[in-house]
Amino acid sequence: MEIIPIIEKDELATLLGGDEFGNISCSTRLKIEKLETVFEKLVEPSLYHQNTGIDSVEKGTVHLEEGPEFKSPKLSKMLKGCDDIICYIATLGDGIEGEIKRLMGKKHMAEAYILDAMASVATDNMVATFHRRMKDEYKNQGKQVTLCFSPGYCDWPITEQKKLFNLLDSQDVDVELNDSCLMTPRKSISGVFGIQSDYENGKTPYNPCWDCNKTDCPARRAPEREKEKV
Ligand code: SF4
Repeated sequence: MEIIPIIEKDELATLLGGDEFGNISCSTRLKIEKLETVFEKLVEPSLYHQNTGIDSVEKGTVHLEEGPEFKSPKLSKMLKGCDDIICYIATLGDGIEGEIKRLMGKKHMAEAYILDAMASVATDNMVATFHRRMKDEYKNQGKQVTLCFSPGYCDWPITEQKKLFNLLDSQDVDVELNDSCLMTPRKSISGVFGIQSDYENGKTPYNPCWDCNKTDCPARRAPEREKEKV
């Protein structure tokens, strides 16, 4: 699927330690403007996705119709009642990574840091755009999608990344896993989300953060007001 990643400026500012883009320093803004041209020249975005049927979900494990089992109580609870999952891998390609290394080698640490942050925001944006498109597509079919979940996120062990990669046709994915289950190019995101055909209209898909007491978790995505809708 073709998705052009967008660098959301306020998200970038947050990642760089600020609150909003309008408040970051003039010199940082100038660096970002220059790096945007570099980014656009080097980015090679690609996103691969695949549907897989869910056989059953029990005892903290998602059993797929074909292939592996995913072990994560929180993922399992989120996928309860789903018929299928969509597995995906999104990447910016290796051009940006090469440029970050080149800048570091030249001791342009500020530029390297900013480009790294821009790439992180852009990768997140690719996945968010993909998720939104799928949400709309399935809504038209009378279905709803769950939130996204990635190996290494929450209680889903990073080692399960191997299972996810084995599930996808690796010929279509220009992303590799090392022995520590980290991806190359580094600016890549893999994950899954569920598809539900039988759901209560208007009910927000389950979010595991609603039930979690880790209020300082950096990955938390749980506006408390959503909890009231359950
Ligand atoms: S707050 Fe953090 S640990 Fe708790 S469910 Fe959400 S992502 Fe997982």
